[in-house]
Amino acid sequence: MVQVKKLKNYINGEWVESKTTQYDDVYNPATKEVIAQVPISTKEELDYAVEAAAKAFEEWKNVPVQKRGRVLFKFQQLLQENTNELARIITIENGKAFSEALGEVGRGIENVEFAAGAPTLMMGDSLTTIAKDVEVTNYRYPIGVVGGITPFNFPMMVPCWMFPMAIAVGNTFVLKPSERTPLLAQKLAELLEQAGLPKGVFNIVHGAHDVVNGLLDHPQVKAISFVGSQPVGEYVYKRGSENLKRVQALTGAKNHSIVLNDADLEHATTNVIASAFGSAGERCMACSVVTVEEGVADAFLEKLIEKAKDVKIGNGLDESVFLGPVIREQNHQRTLGYIQKGIEEGAKLVCDGRERQPEEGYFVGPTIFDGVNTDMQIWKDEIFAPVLSIVRVKNLKEAVETANKSEFANGACIYTSNASSIRYFRENIDAGMLGVNLGVPAPMAFFPFSGWKSSFYGTLPANGKDGVEFYTRKKVVTANYKAPSFE
Ligand code: NAD
Repeated sequence: MVQVKKLKNYINGEWVESKTTQYDDVYNPATKEVIAQVPISTKEELDYAVEAAAKAFEEWKNVPVQKRGRVLFKFQQLLQENTNELARIITIENGKAFSEALGEVGRGIENVEFAAGAPTLMMGDSLTTIAKDVEVTNYRYPIGVVGGITPFNFPMMVPCWMFPMAIAVGNTFVLKPSERTPLLAQKLAELLEQAGLPKGVFNIVHGAHDVVNGLLDHPQVKAISFVGSQPVGEYVYKRGSENLKRVQALTGAKNHSIVLNDADLEHATTNVIASAFGSAGERCMACSVVTVEEGVADAFLEKLIEKAKDVKIGNGLDESVFLGPVIREQNHQRTLGYIQKGIEEGAKLVCDGRERQPEEGYFVGPTIFDGVNTDMQIWKDEIFAPVLSIVRVKNLKEAVETANKSEFANGACIYTSNASSIRYFRENIDAGMLGVNLGVPAPMAFFPFSGWKSSFYGTLPANGKDGVEFYTRKKVVTANYKAPSFE
């Protein structure tokens, strides 16, 4: 029998074997093979990592900001050189198509590039004369140890929303990656070390609840960045805030796309397919519901089903594959459960993904329900799988009102050729990230990733200037420079 690799924690620049007795299997979801074992580390191990990070902070915060930026420039170069290997790791542990994994690596690199501009981002501001001889200057400082808790669906991009900016502005970081996709973080640590990052600035503690609770309770952890599901995000926000930490928690979604009578249907269907079924629907910006105007609904659906049937399913390492597996057997069963639920609720199953399930992995083919309404559970819940609901409406107003009934408000898209409709949509939809005639409107690194309602808990979301604000604190100095006397 081949010995499966047991992952180690990365603490204070050393790879440390966990003292835990509990290891979880890590699977390749396309083959069901066990590819590694991840330690479910103890709270004591987390404490040890936080102490190392707190010690490293005392030196790192005083490293000139341009030198910190240079480490990120070097890291960016190493990420570019290792892009294919990084994407391969993502596809193997997550299952998404290799082209999607390459895209993810690219998005992660953009965050590193943005963070490397820390000298400009860290600048304060000042006013010379707020009273006679009195001026005010606003200085920006790091906050200390930051904890990052990340989901399985973007093992590279989501950690890169957090640690590059956090460390560029002078903080130190403890990452708890998803226990279902823990391999990519190991590679990030190796590359950071090669880029010359000092020991203790970036640490990884693998695990689950105990490590998360350890981060939320530790007095030396000053801020928590969380990305994951809604119930866990709400819990993390409440417990972290109760312990007087800054918390940003980016959570679940149910994203609506609105297709109007004047939309380019060829373009709209291509984009909806990519957005609903790309990454097996396991994207917080996936399109889960299409709300389509009645006049065009039949034609739209006909084209959509045709394209859904053409989607190639399989192991993402085969570069011609578009749709990979969902992450685990439990998610596979849950998806089948929702398909059954949709049928029982009276929705019309017009494309049945259960007919296309290669047995070697956790696959479900593209699934489409027509005739869905807002009382149905398949409309309400984040299914996080390649299952799409179609709701027919009489006009744009009804489409927007329908989407706004969702408890989630991460992203929303509109397909139309009418500028007035676009403006109406922009002004009236409840969602933080909008797409106009495109499918996945995930903002670039220099803009905020800003869900609304139950898709976000906190004040400052990730990325852009909000990310800089979240990872820094300020000192505002008011000084009286009494004018010298020359008499
Ligand atoms: P998850 O909530 O199960 O896990 C996220 C993290 O929380 C993991 O590190 C996990 O170990 C930890 N965790 C899980 N249960 C916990 C508990 N009871 N107590 C403490 N910690 C716990 O999420 P997931 O399934 O890994 O990821 C998918 C979810 O993430 C989806 O809901 C998706 O919408 C969301 N997501 C949101 C965004 C966004 O920007 N809004 C981005 C990516 C993913």
